[in-house]
Amino acid sequence: MLTNNEISELKLLLNQKKKIVITSHTNPDGDAIGSSLAMYHYLTKLGNTVNIVLPNKFPNYYNWLTDSDKILIYEKQSKLSQKLLVEAEIIFSLDYNAISRLGALTEIVLGTSAKRILIDHHIDPEIENFDYCHSTVETSSTGELIYDFITKAGDEKLIDKNIAEAIYTGIVTDTGSFSFSCNRPETYLITSKLISHGVNAEKIHKLIYDTYSENRLRLLGYAISNRMVVWEELHTALIYLTKSDLKKYNYKVGDTEGVVNYPLSMEKINMSVLITERDNKLRLSFRSKGDFSVNELAKAHFNGGGHKNAAGGKTSETIDELIDRLKTVMGDYKKQLNYIISL
Ligand code: 5GP
Ligand code: MN
Repeated sequence: MLTNNEISELKLLLNQKKKIVITSHTNPDGDAIGSSLAMYHYLTKLGNTVNIVLPNKFPNYYNWLTDSDKILIYEKQSKLSQKLLVEAEIIFSLDYNAISRLGALTEIVLGTSAKRILIDHHIDPEIENFDYCHSTVETSSTGELIYDFITKAGDEKLIDKNIAEAIYTGIVTDTGSFSFSCNRPETYLITSKLISHGVNAEKIHKLIYDTYSENRLRLLGYAISNRMVVWEELHTALIYLTKSDLKKYNYKVGDTEGVVNYPLSMEKINMSVLITERDNKLRLSFRSKGDFSVNELAKAHFNGGGHKNAAGGKTSETIDELIDRLKTVMGDYKKQLNYIISL
């Protein structure tokens, strides 16, 4: 974490009308988008020229966030995104711990001479790749860390409704509506402040979670009825969705968000995996409840990482090969997965 002195030093830099680009990780989620927009509004208020560049598209249920239409998507606007990154004096890295999480943007960012500032809550940040790191794993979300950064910079008075809504979006999505990573009093103290700044928590819940298309809800039903495999003895369940499943339900970015959580609602299931076929690769999403670390699992076996209870990964295997390997790998963790949640 940055000390208050380091944040004051940074604040001097951020008061000099700099050209700044904010970046976040591939497959941006609510925290990636929320923390980027909160920082965007804040740094713009300080007088900087600020742009947000994300590697690929984000779900349209975040379109209501103020200025989300100004976010540049590298996949669609690569020339302009690259130009802004090359010209940037400062690059913010929000909600990711390794530059490679930028996907196609990785080499561009590594090739610029901009100062790099990381604000993030993932385990083991690549500190050697950043000039400043505001990073801790305890915090619910990067959104919460943005609030911390702005207040430590002495700028709480600059927090307006736009900033508050963006930070709240990061907190509410990264805690699954306050159902995990939600045991620190600070999260609620900050949330309380955000409500005072005009956040309408009920409305935001509806805008994010009650905006399914019929296809999205039917895809969820199909995934659970037809594509869920339960290995009770391994306390593990998986759901797989093929390219043609996704096509059948007219898949749109964000439609599989949250699907991985459903198997965990079974009492004896402590680990859940969602496998989705994307282009020529398989994407994996892992969730656990309790002590089992899916971050360790994803890092060791599936070319990924994340947090203790939520992680992701990728592989070039076929679905059948992956499911076979997963069963073998999970067999090695059988003992560790055998627990019952209790207080
Ligand atoms: P999700 O399953 O929602 O895509 O991701 C869960 C968590 O794991 C997020 O915090 C995300 O940043 C992280 N994550 C997802 N995919 C990867 C990956 O390929 N590599 C790493 N290091 N982290 C990932
Ligand atoms: Mn996050």
